Amino acid sequence: MNKLVFEDSKDVVTPKFLQDHGILSWGNFNTPPEPYEGCDASEFWRHVFSYGFGDYTEFRQVTIDDKSHQVHLVIYHDTIFMIDTFSEQSKISASFYRVGCKHHYKSENIGKCLHRLICEHCGYSQIIDSSD
Ligand SMILES: [Zn+2]
Repeated sequence: MNKLVFEDSKDVVTPKFLQDHGILSWGNFNTPPEPYEGCDASEFWRHVFSYGFGDYTEFRQVTIDDKSHQVHLVIYHDTIFMIDTFSEQSKISASFYRVGCKHHYKSENIGKCLHRLICEHCGYSQIIDSSD
């Protein structure tokens, strides 16, 4: 299998990036970032609906439960998904994981149609413009 090299990861994976995503360890090519937990595929597809297929992706072969898994990290500004793809008798399937914090936002109005969303768990914030 070809390996896509994520050349710019040193520029993306900064201490602020790790803090914003609630990540304790970024891991490496053979270990997943921590923490991660299984999530419903619809959580990923909601991000695709809103933002497309992520700002960055990274391929890894990680060991989970003593088995090798081929995963793609799909990195959005606020959420990282780890998608475990596997084939069985030529049928491709996938399991979805969310890496880091499952943000739970409270909203502050900071101007006409501008809202700051702040995660109550980790403090990550983003500004949303709700005008048309
Ligand atoms: Zn959070």
